Amino acid sequence: MPNKTSALIFERIALIGIGLIGSSIARRIKRDGLANHVSVSARSQQSLDKALELGFADSVTLDQKESVKNADLIIICSPVGTYSNIIQNIKSNLKLGAIITDVGSVKQAVIRDLEPHIPEGVHLVPAHPVAGTERSGPEAGFAELFEDRWCIITPTSQTEKKSIKQVTEFWKSLGSNVEIMEPKHHDLVMAMTSHLPHLIAYTIVGTATDLEKSLTNEVIKFSAGGFRDFTRIAASDPTMWRDVFLNNRDAVLEMLQRFSEDITALQRAIRWGEGDTLHELFSRTQEVRRGVIEAKQEKMYD
Ligand code: NAP
Repeated sequence: MPNKTSALIFERIALIGIGLIGSSIARRIKRDGLANHVSVSARSQQSLDKALELGFADSVTLDQKESVKNADLIIICSPVGTYSNIIQNIKSNLKLGAIITDVGSVKQAVIRDLEPHIPEGVHLVPAHPVAGTERSGPEAGFAELFEDRWCIITPTSQTEKKSIKQVTEFWKSLGSNVEIMEPKHHDLVMAMTSHLPHLIAYTIVGTATDLEKSLTNEVIKFSAGGFRDFTRIAASDPTMWRDVFLNNRDAVLEMLQRFSEDITALQRAIRWGEGDTLHELFSRTQEVRRGVIEAKQEKMYD
């Protein structure tokens, strides 16, 4: 059943951070007229100039406090390690009734950093669009990024139902399907589906570059054998991913522990020539791949 809508839900939207995710949101808002004014702030003037040049911002400023003035919806779209400073900067300039949401890849740490500083009469609705690419910066975004993708909203005990509904409608208007989840559960699920795969990709590519030079050159030359797919994931933004691992430590370590046990079991199966064990696992994983395709979660820009 379609659950997508397209209507003006917010008059004025402020985006803090205008990289892959922020600029994709801004592009979609401008393309579909989802707000009358998009105000943008970033860390560098260069990104702000680019936002104006590409036409997805109505106003830009390096001053975060200025950018959120009169905004009905504020979306924090910067690495999660920046949130503490951002809320300190903006909290005294938030409009009564405004909603603060975000796109951060972890949720418990985001709530820990934001919630205690949310002023009375302002509403926090933590969210995470499960969509992305390995590219970053304002030029990397595109309006279709969230189409048919999940956006997970992780309300806290203090989150007002009306605000959840508004943020849900907003993400549906961006083309997403919306799921509501407990923050802790979100972090555990993402540790397995996103954070661990990134860690493995970073490790494999790191190991390859530590080989002696001639071997590394061959790895790159013949990368179509499988390595290439890991290099794509391992090209993801280092700051964003550093912050993800530092802020989802427990869940990542738990999944990493399970992974280490499983890889040790595979090591043993290879050593002892236990072909059936290997074949049984590889058959099960083929099924998982089919499930991903059936769930329409496979896209060219993944
Ligand atoms: P990105 O392309 O690297 O963009 C980050 C943006 O944040 C840039 O505009 C940057 O400004 C700005 N920024 C950095 N530090 C800042 C600070 N201290 N104050 C204000 N702005 C600051 O990153 P992204 O991929 O869009 O990721 C942004 C967020 O989305 C992260 O929290 C990440 O966890 C989440 N997320 C990412 C993906 C993904 O696949 N990439 C998917 C889902 C969610 P400058 O441009 O001036 O440097």
